[in-house]
Amino acid sequence: MFLDVPLREFEWIAPQRLRLFERFGLSTAGDVLTHYPRRYEDRRRFDRFPTQESETPVCVCGIVVKTAAKRLGGWKKLFEVVMEHPDAHALSQPLVCRWFNAHFVQKMIATGQRLVVYGKPKIRGKNICIDHPEFEVIEDEQEASVHLNRITPIYRATEGLSQRLIRSVTHRLVESLGGEEIENRLPAKLDSFPFRDALREIHFPRDFPSLEQARRHLILNEFFSMQLFIAARRAETISQAGRSHCGPGRLLSQFQETLPFALTGAQRRVIGEIRSDLASDRPMSRLLHGDVGSGKTVVALSAMLLAVEAGFQAALMAPTQILAEQHYLNFSRWLGPLRVKLALRTGARKEESALPLFDNSEPRIVIGTHALLYDSIFSNLGLVVIDEQHKFGVMQRARLIGQANAPDVLVMTATPIPRTLTMTLYGDLDVSTLDELPANRGKIITAIRDESKMPDAIAFIRKHLEAGRQAYIVYPIIEESGKAEIKAATMEFAKWKEALSPMRCELLHGRVDAVEKEAIMRRFHHGESKALVATSVIEVGIDVPNASVMLIENAERFGLAQLHQLRGRVGRGPHKSYCILMTPAASGEPTEKLRVLEQSSNGFEIAETDLRLRGPGDILGTAQSGLPPLKLGDPISDAGLMAAAREAATGIFARDPLLEREENKRFRDLIAEGRKWVLSQV
Ligand code: ADP
Ligand code: MG
Repeated sequence: MFLDVPLREFEWIAPQRLRLFERFGLSTAGDVLTHYPRRYEDRRRFDRFPTQESETPVCVCGIVVKTAAKRLGGWKKLFEVVMEHPDAHALSQPLVCRWFNAHFVQKMIATGQRLVVYGKPKIRGKNICIDHPEFEVIEDEQEASVHLNRITPIYRATEGLSQRLIRSVTHRLVESLGGEEIENRLPAKLDSFPFRDALREIHFPRDFPSLEQARRHLILNEFFSMQLFIAARRAETISQAGRSHCGPGRLLSQFQETLPFALTGAQRRVIGEIRSDLASDRPMSRLLHGDVGSGKTVVALSAMLLAVEAGFQAALMAPTQILAEQHYLNFSRWLGPLRVKLALRTGARKEESALPLFDNSEPRIVIGTHALLYDSIFSNLGLVVIDEQHKFGVMQRARLIGQANAPDVLVMTATPIPRTLTMTLYGDLDVSTLDELPANRGKIITAIRDESKMPDAIAFIRKHLEAGRQAYIVYPIIEESGKAEIKAATMEFAKWKEALSPMRCELLHGRVDAVEKEAIMRRFHHGESKALVATSVIEVGIDVPNASVMLIENAERFGLAQLHQLRGRVGRGPHKSYCILMTPAASGEPTEKLRVLEQSSNGFEIAETDLRLRGPGDILGTAQSGLPPLKLGDPISDAGLMAAAREAATGIFARDPLLEREENKRFRDLIAEGRKWVLSQV
């Protein structure tokens, strides 16, 4: 098909240009045609030369009448261009464009040239000015039909691969579309606009309504492929011959009786949902979704006991070593009286509970990190629980599941995913939600403070430690970062140690070796150390109910959802808890965004706000979720189209699960394309 043709097969693209495209990741006709414009300029009618400031950018065309390079003292250089309206009768005030320290611009612009510029006008003294406008030199009148007098596409470009070059090549490809076989990818019922026309109109639209139709069609194309892919995956899971992994529940009742608390209504409901999945011979694929502290671990263990009682092994996979070890400690405590054999498997440690004595049998419950993926400990795995799913890729999930004969799978996440996204990301899973927190929880009070209040904060923490509580002090350090950052944390740690002495304070970050890490956690758990200075390693899962104060340094550097996760480490016991968000003095806007946390303790609400502020990129993390990427569509703002695409895709599979009908065969290619992409990501 035309879209797959490599650019190098088009003789009209000169070799050095070809290299530029390839280096930019565009190597087939389809790559270029789906390098969609990032915006458009209506160059049929330029804006008037501005006469006042405006927050909306203007797009004007003029003649360069003067250029000047100035030195502004020190290393700063200014390049100034004065432009006049091409029509002298227009009587417009000239427009000044300015660039600071942009040497390459100076080399591109000369007096007499025609220039299109785009940017926000400002008043500077007597002049109307645009600083650092986007611009394009109009060199060749012959090409005007491509670059001018039309709604003109503006692309993501780089130095070397210019706007004009991308536009020219795209234009030529679009022109050759006419003679090519371009098959529609959508069922006509979903959208009947021809694919070929959409590819043309998205780049060189005849008018704005037609651009809108094209956009809609192409977004539906993306969404539909994605949903087909998800539906295919789901159909595959369902068709696997599973078996029931559910015991009668005696072990479960015993376990629940030993718990020092009663389950919440939500926990009971969700355990019920999982139980009927386990009992059915259809393999379970369920997402358990609950705010921090909602008690997912107990639910997981309940499910695992049901599987164990039916004679199967159950595995729990955690995203970090610390978390795996913590689960192991908890489970050992809970399972001791039940005499269920337990094992821990992480990169650093392999350990098995000694119970029952002289028993060589295999462990029934195995806890581990991704090291589990490579372990041969399983002989009859019946249930896999994956904790904090967002840290795992779909392919890893697939690998673990692939070890056994269609085990049931429960994926747990504390990142509250807005409903609009669950449908997209986890469309192949059933969803259970823990929407209720255990009743014994103390309140968490959150307060934003600037650095000048640090002495008060230290006094506050001391007071709580002296009263027997414990505290976390968190630094915004990226775990993958280098030695310098670790050094910084180590220095801060020294300060804290002094400030809180004689109470014991320890340092925890991703580079502390595994054995030491566990020892630190154990001491904190048992209250031997009072304060933990840590990076965001403690973000997920750590559970120490006696910890009631958290101070987060440079809180503005974290995302809201992440802060909410962090904050969830306190308020786990009956004590009133505190979360202090420290920001640099006078940090204005960043502080404003943090107000949400002062006002809300609802993870879903916070996640929605985070999503609004930062876009879906983070949560979507397409590569993470293992779905083909979206170039045009936005699952949030185009949620309606996503729903339509999903309905169409599931409808097709419902009527024709193997895509055997003539009219459905073409969809197999789309799914294969998605698979190819996913495999390329492993
Ligand atoms: P998360 O959902 O964040 O993983 P956990 O499973 O770690 O939450 O549970 C948080 C804490 O709440 C743990 O100490 C756990 O023992 C406790 N817990 C769980 N369920 C209940 C309940 N129904 N009542 C009281 N405490 C509970
Ligand atoms: Mg947890």
